[in-house]
Formats: sequence, C-alpha cells, structure tokens
Amino acid sequence: MMGMYSFPPKTYFEIASFFYLLILYLISFQDPGRYVRSSKLFRMLELNMLLALVASILTYTFAIPEYGTPLAVCMLLRTLDSVLSVTSSRSFTLYLHSYVDTSRRLERLTVVGNVLFYVYLALMLLNIPLKFVLWYAPDGTYMHGTLFVPIVFTPPIYFMAINVLILVLQLKSMGIREKVSLSVASFITLLGLIVQAATDGKLLLSLPFGSVGIFVLYFSLETADYHRLLEKNEMLRIAEQDAVKANRAKSDFLASMSHEIRTPLNAVLGMDEMILRETSADRNIDSVSAGRIRSYAENIRDAGHILLSVINDILDLSKIESGKMEIKPAPYRLRALLGDVSTMIRVRAEQKGLVYTQTLDPDLPDALIGDELRIRQILINLLNNAVKYTDQGEVRLEVSRKGQSAQTLTLSFTVRDTGIGIKKENLPLIFGDFQRIDEEHNHRIEGTGLGLSIVKRLVGLMNGDISVSSEYEKGSVFTVYLPQEICDTVPGTDASAEEAAPDLPEERAFHTPDCTYLLVDDNRMNLLVAKHFLDELGGRIDTAASGNEALEKMRTATYDLIFMDHMMPDLDGIQTFELSLTDPGNINRDTPMIMMTANALSGMREEYLSKGFADYLSKPLDSKELLRVIRRHLPSEKMEPAN
Ligand code: ADP
Repeated sequence: MMGMYSFPPKTYFEIASFFYLLILYLISFQDPGRYVRSSKLFRMLELNMLLALVASILTYTFAIPEYGTPLAVCMLLRTLDSVLSVTSSRSFTLYLHSYVDTSRRLERLTVVGNVLFYVYLALMLLNIPLKFVLWYAPDGTYMHGTLFVPIVFTPPIYFMAINVLILVLQLKSMGIREKVSLSVASFITLLGLIVQAATDGKLLLSLPFGSVGIFVLYFSLETADYHRLLEKNEMLRIAEQDAVKANRAKSDFLASMSHEIRTPLNAVLGMDEMILRETSADRNIDSVSAGRIRSYAENIRDAGHILLSVINDILDLSKIESGKMEIKPAPYRLRALLGDVSTMIRVRAEQKGLVYTQTLDPDLPDALIGDELRIRQILINLLNNAVKYTDQGEVRLEVSRKGQSAQTLTLSFTVRDTGIGIKKENLPLIFGDFQRIDEEHNHRIEGTGLGLSIVKRLVGLMNGDISVSSEYEKGSVFTVYLPQEICDTVPGTDASAEEAAPDLPEERAFHTPDCTYLLVDDNRMNLLVAKHFLDELGGRIDTAASGNEALEKMRTATYDLIFMDHMMPDLDGIQTFELSLTDPGNINRDTPMIMMTANALSGMREEYLSKGFADYLSKPLDSKELLRVIRRHLPSEKMEPAN
C-alpha cells in the first residue's frame, strides 16, 4: 500500500514554489538588513510560507487513509496545514504593518487580529479530540463540520481586509516604491486565494501566488542595495537634523558671545574716551607725555571700533545664515536716508583727503516703502570700502531709477571710486565669506572680508541685484538695484532736501544741571563708564546694581531718565521694567526708560521698543548717541545750552 504515495498533480505548483522560496530564503540571509525593521518580519514571512507549503504538500500527498496512513497522522497534517496557512496570512499583515506609522486605529486592529488568531489556534487544538471543525470518519472519509468555514476562513479574511485597509489609509505616507510593491504583492496573493476558492481546491494556488507576492517584495523592498539606500537616507536625515541643531547652537553661541565681548569692550572704550577727554587739547594739559598718552588712547579707540565692527559683521552673517534676518519694509524718506549716509561718509573721505560727491535724480519720489536700515547698511558698506580702498581722487554715490511702474520702482545706487581697483580674476571672489583679495597690496587696510558677502545677501533678501566692474589701479564701480514700493509719487520738496543736506551744523552742546538720572547695571565698570559720560552734563546721577535695587530707588526719588541694562542676575532689565509698571509705590511710572544693553543682534531695537522701552542704546556706549537719546527724551526747558 505504501508504494501508492505520489505527489498529486495539483501540488506541483506548490512544490515549485517551495524550492524557489527556499532559495530566496537562503539568499535573504546574506544581507541581515540590520537597520530596517521590516526585514526581520520579512524573513519570518518567508519561513512561515515555506512551512505552510511543506504542510500543504505533505497533507495532499500523505493524509490519505486509504493508502494506510493512520487517521491520527492524517488529522495532525490537516490541522498543521490549516494553522500554517493562517499563520502565513497573519505574518503578511505584520510585515505590511511595519511599513506604516502605526496609528492608534491600526494598533487596535492588530490587537483584534491577535485575539482572533489565538482563539482560532485554541479551537483547532480542541478540534483534535472533539472533532467539530474537520475530522476523519472511522471509514477514512475526510469530513468538514458546519463550523469549518467560519473558523478556518475568518482569520485569513480578517487579515486580508486589514491589509487593504492599511494600504488605503496609509498610501499617502508611503513612498511610491512601497506603495506599488505592497499593493501588487497583496493583489497577487488575493488572486491566488480567489482562484483556489473558485475551483473548490482543485487548483492549489493560494500559497504559490502568495510566494510570488513575496518575490515581488524581495526584489523591490528587501534587497541589500535597497536596505543600504534606506540606511543612507536615514543617516542623511539624522545628519541634517544634527546640522540644523549645530547651526542653532552656533547662532546662540554668537549671540551670547557678542554680549560677553561687548560688556568688557564697553568698559575699555568708555575708559579710553575718558582718557581722551582728560588729555584733550582744550584741557590745557600741556605736557609731552599727555600727548603721547592721548595718541595711545586714540589707537585703543580705533582698534576697539574695528573689533566692534567685526563682531557686528559676524553677528549679521550668522543671522542671515540661520534665516533669522527679516527684511522689514516700512515707509521712509529717501533724501533723509541719503543725507545721513553722506554725513557719515563725507567725514571719513575728507579725513583721507578724498572728495565725496553725491548725485540724486531730482524726479525720484521721496516717500518710499522698504527696509531703510538695511539699505543704509548696504550703502555704508560699499561707500566705506570705496573710501578704504582709495588713496586719492574721488568717491561718488549716484542714485537714480532703473524702472518705475505705478506702485513700484527700482532704485539704482552706483558707488564709484578712483582707488586701487580689483583684478579681473578676483572679481568673482569678492562676494565670498571671509574673502579678502590682493592681500599683499592691501594688507595695511583693516577688514575681515565679510562686508560684501553681507551686502550681497542683504540685496538678495530684498529681491535686488548687485554687480561690480573694476579696472585694476584705476577704480571700481559697484551697482545695486533695489525694488521699492512708492508711498507717495511727489518728489522730495526743497525742505526735505534741506533736511538731507550733509553739512548740518553740529548739534549744540547742552547741560542738564537740574536733571536726575538713574543708571541700572550689575556691572560696576559699565556703571562707571555711563556715569562718566553723564557727569559731563551735570545733574544728579543715581546708580543701582540690580533690578531690585532699581525698583527700590524708583519708590523714593523721581528721575528724568532711567537707563536700564538687560542681562542682570535675578531680575533682568525687562522684568524690572515690567514690575515697575505695576509697582504701586513707583513714583516714576511716566519716566522714559532707556534700554542700554550689549545685546546688539539686529532687530533687538524693535524688540525692546515693542516691550515699551522709550529708546535703545547698544553697548559699547557711544557718547554722541547717548547725548542724542537724552536730547530726544528730555523736555527742552531742562536743557541749557553749554558755552
Ligand atoms: P573687507 O572687510 O576686506 O573690506 P569686503 O567683503 O568688504 O571685505 O571686500 C572683500 C574684498 O573686495 C576686499 O578685501 C577688497 O580686496 C575688495 N574690495 C571691496 N571693495 C573694493 C573697492 N571699492 N576697491 C577695491 N577693492 C575692493
């Protein structure tokens, strides 16, 4: 009887599938896929499928009582066959799950799937003694109970349904490759099941088709190359996150470094200014050593200001790089802006014996909308360079328009000099970060090579354009185009031109003998510097070394102006200011409070003003700026002209 066993033709597909799946299983071990969560589940799926194929082939070949196989063996094979095919479909679902962000809803579906699976297993085990799902009659006939269909088919149908649901719900979050492969594999498997059911088990195609699905998945999602690609992508993503974090750390570092450097620099420059004053010619200290000391102090002042401008440049560049530099368009007056710029540059040009001229197209409208601060920064940068790199001749600023429509116009600024010029081969380099060229030629000239790189980026942020042409040893021409909105098409009146006149007489000096000032700073040197500056004006000066001490003083004396530092231990300047507003004992609630801080990141001014401060002064303190602010906030009857 034993000799009658042979593979029935309907298992041929399964036998073939078994072999190619076995090969695939072995191949998939060559790449352990360490980094991909799905690959472990994939190998489990392959193994399940292999076992299911073995069980199916053995069942159809050996579970035949008329050939003499004991009924108990037949029963065991039938049970194994059923259980392993359900395990395979569950395994497929688990694999699919590994490709989706398991949302709560899907999580619950998995729990239901697990419960269903274990209930099914228990019932199949109970079936062995109790015989209510499938069994063999004593005569060897294979029998199905009425519970066969619900018990054996419910789990696979459930898993199939979940697969479809996962694919539909999560399609958007998957890459195109995952989307296509997973859909195709699911479809092929489903097709096998349908064919097997439709032919009533005459064609055993569910497992072979399922293994074709696995093939599709292997070659599209589970090869070593693809794993490596995913791994690289993941590493890139992490590297990108790290880079963003590092850049943020850099910006924070720069912001705090700026503060840390400015605070001592404030003391150095402030004390230096005191030396300059004490040794100034009009003090009539007529000794040789006073003159020498004065020239040392002048050197300290110049070096200090260079250090300050380097810090400012680095801060600006880092702010632009981290995308925090915002262009803030607001109405402004073109002629007033140009007036300010020319006042500044003219002094520098004349110190070097250069002629500075400025021309302006008289028809240009005066009231424009744009970021005045940044335009000023661009012009001052270009003009400073022109003065810096010119030893004789002329520096010239021409302002005209390139194009104009009803609401907008493109301003054209041309900065010409008769200086050392730039070699043709160096022209493309000058806008790079820290790029200084022709160093043997201009090593005497101070610079960091950051100015033009900032200018170029600012122009870019304003949707403008910058170009340069130059002839070596003859001179250079920088041209900037900036689109601006027109606020009012009327060209500047004579009055505004007058306002812009570069030769404004020096503001008259003044005294404030009847004023009282409160200076708040935790740094003793800073207090000393500011106090020295204010001493020149006369009046009473109180100091406080902390926010709490300041609040205390504001309760006992009235002040004309309060100068407040920002970064202080315990209460900082802003907290102190806010507390002072709600402090019932404060008798200085209407006193203008001026923020005086080393926190000089661009944009801080607006920030402090929006908090309610009357004005902003950056440290190192500039004595002229300090006077300007005081003049702005004191009533005129408190100021006496000084002789
Ligand atoms: P720096 O701080 O060195 O002036 P910039 O970024 O402003 O840095 O300029 C970069 C380089 O371009 C300078 O080092 C200088 O060699 C060259 N350069 C800029 N402006 C001029 C100019 N008007 N004439 C000649 N060379 C210039």
